[in-house]
Amino acid sequence: MSDLSGKHGLIVGVANKRSISWAIAQAAAAAGARLALTFPSARLEENVRELAATLENPVLAPCDVASDQQIGDLAATLQHEFGGLDFLVHGAAFAPADALSHPFVETSRESFRVALDVSVYSLVALTRAVVPLMEPRGGGSILTLTYIGSQRVFPNYNVMGVAKAALESSVRYLASDLGPKNIRVNAISAGAIKTLAASGISGFSSILQVYRDRAPLRRGVDTSEVADAAVFLLSQASRAVTGEIVMVDAGFHVNGGI
Ligand code: NAD
Repeated sequence: MSDLSGKHGLIVGVANKRSISWAIAQAAAAAGARLALTFPSARLEENVRELAATLENPVLAPCDVASDQQIGDLAATLQHEFGGLDFLVHGAAFAPADALSHPFVETSRESFRVALDVSVYSLVALTRAVVPLMEPRGGGSILTLTYIGSQRVFPNYNVMGVAKAALESSVRYLASDLGPKNIRVNAISAGAIKTLAASGISGFSSILQVYRDRAPLRRGVDTSEVADAAVFLLSQASRAVTGEIVMVDAGFHVNGGI
């Protein structure tokens, strides 16, 4: 049932081979999907191009998710290349470095705005852009990536925790809006994984150790484990699931405070 053959998907958020979105791209391709990948800047284009070259017949397009113009151009490219879209993976997130190392109370208005714009509003904007591509297909699946820092305090996660709370709420509102069109919207809340984005959080390695010590499975998770859950959520196997935050975190979230 977790089959994506004949499906066309857009993956936003591949930076390098450690990216969770790259693991999802590989798993979705292995399940039969044809993919479009984006790069946010010329600096990352080469990385994404090299990875995409290992996929079958990929589409590559620029997309800074803070730009409505680039999101519009991306939708036009997808219409041209795929003639529609079956799924979207939203794996873009960003907060300025100062906001991830100083106490949360010191978060500047500008850092707050940028973090929420790139990490949350982008889901709303991308979703709006792809709905017209999904409707003629009879529906679709949209997936974003979140972290339990939305609910609990982790050192230096700060404004990203606030952004993830807004992201999870956005998943529910979007799911409610788009359910009548058979477009589902879900999130995976992944356990901590060492990626480019994670390395921007001061003291991240101590968070990783907490998973090994305290998660019921006594370990962290890897990107392929998140990707397997993602393929389920992108496929017909999850056709009755929407508005959901699926925890893929070795069970860490069941812990109490001690
Ligand atoms: P990553 O650095 O590989 O991915 C983050 C992506 O966001 C990068 O590809 C980056 O290019 C992209 N991005 C940033 N600004 C952008 C912009 N303006 N336009 C377009 N793209 C932009 O790191 P990752 O850990 O794979 O992160 C993917 C998602 O998973 C993020 O939402 C992250 O918060 C979430 N997540 C990560 C962890 C973890 O521990 N690594 C845990 C739970 C959730």
